[in-house]
Amino acid sequence: MSLHEIDPVTRASSAPPPAREHEPGRASRASGSGAQGVAWHAADADAVLAALQSGPHGLSQAEAARRLAANGPNRMPEAEAPSLLLRLARQFNNLLLQILMASALVTGLMGHWVDSAVIGAVVLLNAVIGFVQEGKAEKALQAIRHLLSPHAVVLRDGRQHDVAAADLVVGDIVLLASGDSLPADVRLLQARGCRIDESALTGESVPVDKAPEAVADHAAIGDRQCMGYAGTLLTQGQARAVVVATGADTEIGRIGRMLAAVEEGTTPLLQKMAVFSRQLTFVILGVAVLLFTFGTLVRGLPVSDTFMAAVGLAVAAIPEGLPAILTITLAIGVQRMARRHAVIRRLPAVEALGSVTVICSDKTGTLTRNEMTVQQVICAGRTLEVEGAGYAPQGAIKLDGSALDPAGLAERAPAAARLAVAAALCNDASVHESEGRWLLAGDPTEGALLTLAMKAGLNPAELRIERPRLELIPFESEYRYMATLHAGAGPGPAAEAFVKGAPERVLAMCAAQLGPQGREEPLDLAWWQAQVEAQARAGRRVLALAWRAFPEARRDIDHGDIAAGLTLLGLVAIIDPPREEAVRAVARCAEAGIRVVMITGDHGVTASAIAAQLGMGENLQAVTGPEIEAVDDAALRRVVADTRVFARASPEHKLRLVRALQARGEVVAMTGDGVNDAPALKQADVGVAMGMKGTEAAKQAGAMVLADDNFASIAHAVEEGRTVYDNLKKTVSFLLPINGGESLTLLLAVLLGVALPILPAQVLWVNMVSSVALAMVLAFEPTEADVMRRPPRPSGEPLLSRFLVWRIVLVSALFLAGVFGMYEWMVRQGADVEAARTAAVNTLVCMEVFYLFSVRYLKARSFTLQGVRGTPRVLLAVAGVFALQLLFTYAPFMQALFHTEALAPAVGLRIVAVGVALLVALELEKALLRRLGALD
Ligand code: ATP
Repeated sequence: MSLHEIDPVTRASSAPPPAREHEPGRASRASGSGAQGVAWHAADADAVLAALQSGPHGLSQAEAARRLAANGPNRMPEAEAPSLLLRLARQFNNLLLQILMASALVTGLMGHWVDSAVIGAVVLLNAVIGFVQEGKAEKALQAIRHLLSPHAVVLRDGRQHDVAAADLVVGDIVLLASGDSLPADVRLLQARGCRIDESALTGESVPVDKAPEAVADHAAIGDRQCMGYAGTLLTQGQARAVVVATGADTEIGRIGRMLAAVEEGTTPLLQKMAVFSRQLTFVILGVAVLLFTFGTLVRGLPVSDTFMAAVGLAVAAIPEGLPAILTITLAIGVQRMARRHAVIRRLPAVEALGSVTVICSDKTGTLTRNEMTVQQVICAGRTLEVEGAGYAPQGAIKLDGSALDPAGLAERAPAAARLAVAAALCNDASVHESEGRWLLAGDPTEGALLTLAMKAGLNPAELRIERPRLELIPFESEYRYMATLHAGAGPGPAAEAFVKGAPERVLAMCAAQLGPQGREEPLDLAWWQAQVEAQARAGRRVLALAWRAFPEARRDIDHGDIAAGLTLLGLVAIIDPPREEAVRAVARCAEAGIRVVMITGDHGVTASAIAAQLGMGENLQAVTGPEIEAVDDAALRRVVADTRVFARASPEHKLRLVRALQARGEVVAMTGDGVNDAPALKQADVGVAMGMKGTEAAKQAGAMVLADDNFASIAHAVEEGRTVYDNLKKTVSFLLPINGGESLTLLLAVLLGVALPILPAQVLWVNMVSSVALAMVLAFEPTEADVMRRPPRPSGEPLLSRFLVWRIVLVSALFLAGVFGMYEWMVRQGADVEAARTAAVNTLVCMEVFYLFSVRYLKARSFTLQGVRGTPRVLLAVAGVFALQLLFTYAPFMQALFHTEALAPAVGLRIVAVGVALLVALELEKALLRRLGALD
């Protein structure tokens, strides 16, 4: 029996009766063995099926549902999440908080109870904020994890179904193909060229050969050739297998190791920032100690006051919220990308996406729609037009303008009639009608051929029963053809092989062609090549179909049996129109300074024609796989400099192409779906795996998975990647100068020997309440309009560019001037110190608010309607901060806690005026720098 000989007839009535006294699912629990205690690997396949009460047609849907309800889903037990208390406790494992706690202690011992309590409250608040933010970031990633849940193809009621791997039950028959990650522990029933990478389980990195024959009872896991284990990877071949254990009962489940779908971690940039904030903390502590020494020894100030000033400086200068806010900015970016169908598996990809300079994309299904329709059938001396679109078998086959019925076809174009039979038999796809729509299960190219066969009057399901398949050579990108062997029908040959594939491959295997009268004649190679060329130039995908009769009965074929002596039946020309959104995305990438390169297995001329339709350029010369092989690495580097289309390329070529591009300093995003694409995906700066048609192997290698396989989603991800980077920059540029301004204010006061314009507790209030609330807004900032009109960010560019350092210094100085100035002005007006401090703190917060509006557009004008209005989130945060400042200033308990005093409305107006002045000053700076050309 062949791997794919599936009886399409539903046989619910023959499904095994529901198990009662003997529960198959339970029988396997934790024992790894079947009935009568025999291990699955030691029993033969039929015995295993019998013990599991399954059969060659799989379980019935009803029985599968029953087993699922009884035994639970096929999911690994989740690692127990740390308790809430533990997570909260972890927040205190933070240098800054420890310094603050120590300060609180010393402050308390010195009798400043109120300050001590405020610092304590702030420590607690900070821990709670960290806790909440961490939870949010974790939730964002968790939601994405579910998007990556694997699928499996099962046989139920004799039909193929694509189900979530979690729904598999013991006794299910699964169909596995190369690139699949095994969804459960299975006992192989049939295998062809099967090799499985079991490194996840055994640590053995070389894939092992698998075969369905039983092995000795005492065989160790690595030697059980007839078994496949959940989480391991089928690297080659195809198999049919029965599930023997699911979820926690699987070998990997028993080890209790989780296979993470989304990798945890951080990005190079965040790591750098974390190191930076630690170093900054130490520097600030050093400065605080110096300040204390200077104040007490040089200025002779009282110890207690100077200590408070030093504590104030430390809390003022350390950017408390920064690391947490950067992390959440990243997590929010990841969430936004997921919403646009780009699922990030490795966080560093978010950053890399922002600096991508080249996107290498597959053609079929990514740039094109992958909705294939045969438009023409070309046989020797006859070209037939095929009407209709999609997979509905409606549309006439016409010769010279008149429609042919099946009899007419057999009479007037016998080669085409034979070609239709080949199209139906050398085919693994199926189409069916559901609610008036024709749906495809399987490969779209094959779907198009199946529909063609149906338009020619064939019933593929019946034909496949009449002409059972004896053997299969599956389609692999390396060989670019597929072949099947069938028993002969009637008095003809004993066995027949049908072959379909890329024309140059199949033509090379043919010696003859089927002539207009259905007789074999010598192959006119030049004529066929001209036909292929003409079709390809119109952007059509061309496949050749051929046939070979074997006089003797046989049960198998290999590549050698069909390498020569085939008879060509004809060509089919298939259209696969470009995706409209891909056309737009290609144009946007061009604007964004990103080169799009097409790498396809298809014919060069077809590929260039599609490239032209996509707007990548007219008459692009495609470089082919063999041409890539012919040049060395140095020459390839020159080739990749200006080639936009690579055709007839195999996955192995992709790796060399990525390396050549990277050697030229490009940052490369590369798409892939097959198991052999994995090395190129890993090598690329951003490996992009296809979520729908991609294999599990590709998904595990990719840094990003496209949920919709659509090129446009890559462009969206780049846009989001650039936005995330912008927002990280904005957050840093927002927070650092506030800390800078505060610490300069305190420093200046001590140096001048005057009273502190802001008290340490007040600084903490500003840093932990208003700064955090306002900076959080920046994590959600929408994409700036010009994000895809700028060239890619040079990779390795420091986050703090010269421009940003300048901006931080300038704004720090302006904050100093505003806060110190307001304090001095109040004192000169005769206000007491408390009122002057209250005014200074409010000025600081007000300047923060106006600075937020400026920082939202780092380089562009902020005085646009949109800039002033802001997003609802910005306005909400500003309103919240305003309300809190009113409390801070006028509520008696706050006045008691923070030593504040009510201010007259006129002072409030002055404070707002200072804020406005800051915004105006920064806008003038932007305008000046823009005029000087220093903003580019
Ligand atoms: P991409 O652009 O994503 O690389 P592709 O479909 O053009 O996709 P392959 O899948 O490698 O690339 O196919 C290469 C060639 O093999 C096709 O141009 C076609 O001629 C042939 N081919 C594709 N699918 C089949 C199939 N199922 N059976 C036989 N031949 C096929």
